[in-house]
Amino acid sequence: MPPKVLFTTVYKNSPELYDYIGANARSKWLRFYWPRIQSFGLRFLKQNIPEIEIMEYPTWDEYLKRLNEGWDVVGFSFYLNETHEILDMVEAARTKKEVGELWAGNYGALTPEIQDRFDKIFVGYAEEAVAPYFDRKIDKNDVIHPPLIEYLDTAFHKKLNIYGIMFTTRGCGVGCKFCQTPRFCNHPHPVPIESLERVIAYYKEHDINVVVIEDENFGARRKHADQVVELLDEYGMVWGCMARADYLRKKIDEWVEMRMRPDPRSGTDGRQMKGFAGAAIGIENLHQERLDAINKREGTEDVLETIRLLQSYGLGTVGYYMIGFEDDTKKEIETDIKQLAGLKLDITQICILTPLPQTVLWDEIEERYGIFEKDWHKFDMKHLVWNHPNIPPEEMEDILDKSLRKVYNRLTPIRTSFRVWANAYRFAGLVGVRAIKSYITRANEFDFRPEKPRLLETGPHLLDDEKSSGETLEKDLQPAV
Ligand code: SF4
Repeated sequence: MPPKVLFTTVYKNSPELYDYIGANARSKWLRFYWPRIQSFGLRFLKQNIPEIEIMEYPTWDEYLKRLNEGWDVVGFSFYLNETHEILDMVEAARTKKEVGELWAGNYGALTPEIQDRFDKIFVGYAEEAVAPYFDRKIDKNDVIHPPLIEYLDTAFHKKLNIYGIMFTTRGCGVGCKFCQTPRFCNHPHPVPIESLERVIAYYKEHDINVVVIEDENFGARRKHADQVVELLDEYGMVWGCMARADYLRKKIDEWVEMRMRPDPRSGTDGRQMKGFAGAAIGIENLHQERLDAINKREGTEDVLETIRLLQSYGLGTVGYYMIGFEDDTKKEIETDIKQLAGLKLDITQICILTPLPQTVLWDEIEERYGIFEKDWHKFDMKHLVWNHPNIPPEEMEDILDKSLRKVYNRLTPIRTSFRVWANAYRFAGLVGVRAIKSYITRANEFDFRPEKPRLLETGPHLLDDEKSSGETLEKDLQPAV
């Protein structure tokens, strides 16, 4: 009998979903919403190890009810600012005699202070490490990518778009001092092209024509990234990615030119809705010495040039920015934010420089200034958690608030919507306009939260000797929902 294993995210009693954009927008009505409706990490686990059960954002009561079913293992996948709630969940599980071991994974599990509350800690993507508990063997370069479908929403619950998420490589070794990824997984490993093709085909079959590549750093494996782009082109997908500016700058012209190519399937001309639509870039800061201090290994002017190039083609731009570097003063931040707002990005995410456990930045700040905050909720990049030499915490949060109002004002979503429609027309004429309308219709018809997670119908990974015995995979097939 395989062990009974339940993996869960943090509980959530409020019906309001976490919104990726929410913390950066200040208007309730004139803004986009990107609600978090699933756990990517748990979907990958479920797709590759079908025996595990997963729960995503259960209420507290739903969680307690599931605990009573009895489990050999309950695992928690969480982020740092969810730590207190997860520890409550751990405590509840420890009181149940029906529950065996407790495991922890995802970035929240990197915090040394809480690791002794669990029986096992998984660092990095866990399919490979969890598989042996089920007599399976999964190579990290051989994972199966699950379908991950999300939407862009408005305050009026009229959805604007539906898109498939894709991770083409996982991990990053660039080594920026503030980032936990190199500690979580410091070697970017590619998801096999065959697996990516299956998930793209799944999206296409379900009338989803937009793909968002959520790699930490798309292009970290250049040849692999080129293959991904060819594949997206072949399937006629509209796509965007998160990538470093240095990589993007070399690719933008080529990707824009691809949009004009005849459709490889139908042979029709370039007036069609497909291809590269925009990118998210870590700007981090407008001062070179600050980028150097955090080991970003990029030039500020290069980053700005990449943004200008994207905008010259009418493509989408998302920028990540940080304030609260040790030399920052209120006046200086105000000047920088004016310049940042002048870039007119579609979405600008501003964070307060936050030391995260097991990063170089944590050690440096702890030693030089001290980290005073004990409430993990505040480690959400929107609070000052350490003793800044020039700016006290309340003032820093006030500066953040004003900065966000400047870069993401009420006109921003209107400007972005105009850009999207205008660009669709520019690239594909009326075909483009009709395509955007069809995304809206599809997004509002689609069932984003079916009872069971959508998975690819596929045979699971087995140990080599089972593979060679020719044992049928049928019995373990997961139904595609
Ligand atoms: S910030 Fe981005 S490029 Fe830097 S280490 Fe993290 S994931 Fe890699």
